[in-house]
Amino acid sequence: MRTDYSLAPAEVPVHEPAVLSDTQRALRKDEIRDRLDALDAVLVAHYYVDGDIQDLALETGGCVSDSLEMARFGRDHPASTLIVSGVRFMGETAKILSPEKRVLMPTLEAECSLDIGCPPDEFEAFAAEHPDRTVVVYANTSARVKAMSDWVVTSSVGLRIVEHLAARGEKILWAPDKHLGAYIEQQTGADMLHWTGACVVHEEFKFQALMDLKNVYADAGVLVHPESPAAVIGIADRVGSTSQILQASLELPNDTLIVATDPRLFHQFRRRSPHKRFIEAPTAGDGATCRSCAHCPWMAMNELDNLAQTLDRLDNEVLVDPEIGRLAMIPLQRMLDFPKP
Ligand code: SF4
Repeated sequence: MRTDYSLAPAEVPVHEPAVLSDTQRALRKDEIRDRLDALDAVLVAHYYVDGDIQDLALETGGCVSDSLEMARFGRDHPASTLIVSGVRFMGETAKILSPEKRVLMPTLEAECSLDIGCPPDEFEAFAAEHPDRTVVVYANTSARVKAMSDWVVTSSVGLRIVEHLAARGEKILWAPDKHLGAYIEQQTGADMLHWTGACVVHEEFKFQALMDLKNVYADAGVLVHPESPAAVIGIADRVGSTSQILQASLELPNDTLIVATDPRLFHQFRRRSPHKRFIEAPTAGDGATCRSCAHCPWMAMNELDNLAQTLDRLDNEVLVDPEIGRLAMIPLQRMLDFPKP
């Protein structure tokens, strides 16, 4: 087994979304609205995709949320076709939860460094070496990895679920995000053995550069996603999933907030708190390199053009082997059934 499953810079794609004029955007949005209607389809979008797609999802009765709520929403919505705008594991999760529905995505090339960094065969061998541990995997994994696990968690419920398992005396095998795993271990005191993947977006945030920025904006609050390095988490006013960060942006009294997550979430910040100022946390301190500069290149592959094309061509269907889906549903269902706080 490798000692580090973070991606090398060359493995991270560069993606520059097409720039459309206002007229082109309006036309595309009209086309998409019409097609969603004609197809009995609903648009389920992640907070990190293009702001126009987020708006379209909300305007057409779909949802914009984190991966846990996307999965729940798709399962419970009566539409026969789900259009998932996000990354591949989100489309797979939607299909696992709703096997009878057609699940389409604007592109099937939108991946995730955590999913790529947790190859199923290697993970299976790792888990087999530790049969005494409860296998808890982050939602950002393939259907095959989920199918091998005891629990699937998202960043919004991971901490509470591990706390619950630790209280029952269970030892945890955690995968794939090493920063989120270390944060949960530190918060819960659970006995955790870690896989060593990382999110190329959140791993970029730099402690010293963030401290320097805090000195410039002395009254600013700091919001951090727990996929970030421990030193960055250590100076946050709030640590949480995208939904929890969004909630914190409403609750904290600060007029200025420095935010360590993909800045496409700012679209929702500005909708909800137009009077507040939001600043991107820095990704490059002295001598640091930057692979994604905190903009997820895979989320950026969701564009109005390929969304409209998918609705026209009905391509990019997400398929999951039924037996893998059945096995993956078991740990997913445990998460969905876990009591809300
Ligand atoms: S932001 Fe990170 S965790 Fe989310 S899809 Fe991109 S690479 Fe994966």
